[in-house]
Parts: sequence; structure tokens; C-alpha cells
Amino acid sequence: MNARTLKDIRDYVRTIPDYPKPGIMFRDITTLLSDRDGFSAAIDGLVALHGHVKFDVVAGIEARGFILGGAVAHRLGLGFVPVRKKGKLPWRTHAQEYDLEYGTDIVEIHTDAVLAGQNVLLIDDLIATGGTAEAAVKLFRLAGGEVRAASFVIELPELGGRERLEAMGIEVLSLCAFDGH
Ligand code: AMP
Repeated sequence: MNARTLKDIRDYVRTIPDYPKPGIMFRDITTLLSDRDGFSAAIDGLVALHGHVKFDVVAGIEARGFILGGAVAHRLGLGFVPVRKKGKLPWRTHAQEYDLEYGTDIVEIHTDAVLAGQNVLLIDDLIATGGTAEAAVKLFRLAGGEVRAASFVIELPELGGRERLEAMGIEVLSLCAFDGH
């Protein structure tokens, strides 16, 4: 049994100022992932957030969402669906464009990644503006499924991602928050 509180999750996250560009405080979870207590506190925390909802599948956003989402799926006894950057998936795909600070990007899922009506739990390491997660929600709607909740290790509340997803009817949960960008 892990006796750590959720607040301790923040202590495993390494902050790198001005990466990848000036003004950004990069919240690096590699230090959390490589620590057995940190990793298990994160997975235990994400699993505990969702005891009350029944999901059919867990989805993770490339690339850090794969590590967390895969472990959460295993713990919940569910399968895992990768949300990938454009051009990586080998079969037929749904694609969704989303805005970056400069320009746009595209995420994809296989058209048969979920069955019609399936409930999806979406996992990523961090929510900032919510643009990436919003694109993932739209992808699952195209495929006939529905993201019922989106969970993150880290939330940056000042960037409004929570409000953006909640406006789409998605429950948003996170294990910790940091000020700023
Ligand atoms: P957004 O679409 O704005 O919510 O950005 C979320 C994605 O960008 C996630 O996949 C994060 O891993 C990454 N990201 C955005 N801001 C940060 C940050 N300050 N530190 C680390 N990763 C970030």
C-alpha cells in the first residue's frame, strides 16, 4: 500500500524553465516515471479517480499518455487505444486537426478503435489549453464512442483546458496543478 498523498505527486515532477522556448515552464514527468514510488502514486491516483464510472476502453495521447494510459488500462482490466500523431497508424483512420500556438497539428485514431456507444477514459500527462484533448474527444465522437472523462497527472489551470473540455460535457480530473504556463 502506498501511503503517499496526492499532493506529493508534484514533488516528482521536474520543472525546466524556458523549455522549449522562453516563458514556458516545462513540467517534465520523466522524473516521476523513473521513480517507482512516483510512478505507482501516479497510476494509483489516476485509477482511484475513476472508481465510480464504468469505462469500456482507455485511450492515451502520444507519447506520455501511452505510458500512463497503458498502466491505467491494465489496472482497470480494460484495453488501450493510442491517439497518435498524423501518419503513424497503419490502418484506416479518423483525423482531427487542432491549433498549436504557431500553426496546427493533427491527431488520429483507427476507425475501428472503439465500437459505437463505447465509453472512453482519456489519459494524458498534462492539460494546458486543452486543445490536444479536445481533438481526441472529437476523434472518438467520429468513431461513434464518447469520452466520459479525461484525466491528467498535471493541470495548468490558468490556461483554461478544464473549462474547454467541461463545455463539451467531459468530466475533467487531475492529480495536481501548477501555476503559470
Ligand atoms: P494543450 O493541448 O495545450 O492542453 O497541451 C497539452 C499537451 O502539450 C500535452 O501532451 C503536454 O504533454 C504538452 N504540454 C503543454 N504544456 C506543457 C508544459 N508546460 N510542460 C510539459 N508539457 C506540456
